[in-house]
Amino acid sequence: MMKQQFIPVAAPSLVGNEKSYVMDCLESSWISSTGKYIEKFETAFAQFCEIDHAVSCSNGTTALHLALLALGVGSGDEVIVPTLTFVATANAVTYCGARPVFVDSERCTWNIDPALIESKITARTKGIIAVHLCGHPADLDPIKTVASRHGLFVLEDAAQAHGARYKGRRVGSVGDIATFSFFGNKIISTGEGGMVVTNDAAMAEKMRLLKSHGMDPKQRYWHPVIGYNYRMTNVAAAIGLAQVETVEWQLERRREVANWYRDYLQGWPGLRWQPETEWAKPVWWLFTIILEDEARVTRNEIMSYMGERGIETRPIIHPLHTLPPYVDSARGENFPVAERLAERGINLPTWAGLTREDVSRVCDTLNECFSAQRAANQS
Ligand SMILES: *Cc1c(COP(=O)(O)O)cnc(C)c1O
Repeated sequence: MMKQQFIPVAAPSLVGNEKSYVMDCLESSWISSTGKYIEKFETAFAQFCEIDHAVSCSNGTTALHLALLALGVGSGDEVIVPTLTFVATANAVTYCGARPVFVDSERCTWNIDPALIESKITARTKGIIAVHLCGHPADLDPIKTVASRHGLFVLEDAAQAHGARYKGRRVGSVGDIATFSFFGNKIISTGEGGMVVTNDAAMAEKMRLLKSHGMDPKQRYWHPVIGYNYRMTNVAAAIGLAQVETVEWQLERRREVANWYRDYLQGWPGLRWQPETEWAKPVWWLFTIILEDEARVTRNEIMSYMGERGIETRPIIHPLHTLPPYVDSARGENFPVAERLAERGINLPTWAGLTREDVSRVCDTLNECFSAQRAANQS
């Protein structure tokens, strides 16, 4: 077999001013968490999200923690989260001394099922976290309706969905507050980094206090509360500013990649992918396929076959109620939709720098794997 180039599942595309802005930080020696790029990045990102305030921080997990603290979540509270999400969504709830309460996914978007939320609400429930999984917005209107009926907050975890639209509005601007991640595999990246966005000035101010050791902005080295060091560096913000400048191009390229996948995979028996709902304009974080019974090949068989041929893939995610820290919290409940998606879902390589040839190589390899397994099963 000819050795072919490795195709990673995700990679940042640093095609704009990243290098010159970072050089500016180095040459001016502004490499820590003060400097002009922090405010510039926050302003540009707020504009991109069509929202008033953006507060930068060290990663998407500290963004969630800051948002939950700003919302007043504390010891003994409960927060409703989808079971099908990255573990940080629930961990941030746990950091506050609160308990995540899991809800199954809906079939049409793979996100938290709004119809199942109300039965999970108790006197301790403080709010709901809606996650926009793989770039497809959660159905926020019915979630907001339940939330307002019970006086709960809605936090959007938009770590996988920068720029997606829900009924015309940018995700992140629909709930009370929203968080983003700029980890290396996200839609845009700062290496490590995060952002909280909101239209609520008081919450933004509270998060600025908390992320910087709880230090009074008007009186240096006076700390009225116990804070954290969750700050972003000027270097990361410099990269982030350059990334926001190219974000529309990145989103367009990702959509093109997703369209190529859909063209190639159209009509394959036993295969489907994340649906696109008519009220949503998703962004393509990771193009995700689901294997039906007719495929006659398992997720792990495909992943190892592709891996041996230099193509990285990954399983969607393990539902949180199956993970050791949260098994007890889920109390033996079943989450059939999430479990089925998790068992059968594979993320394919998706990033702005992929070429049509890369995508056809991924699909050809997938096709070979299907044929090989079918032949093996018949003999
Ligand atoms: C990536 C991710 C996070 C955490 O972001 P980090 O920057 O890695 O801390 C949180 N929630 C979701 C849904 C994510 O995908």
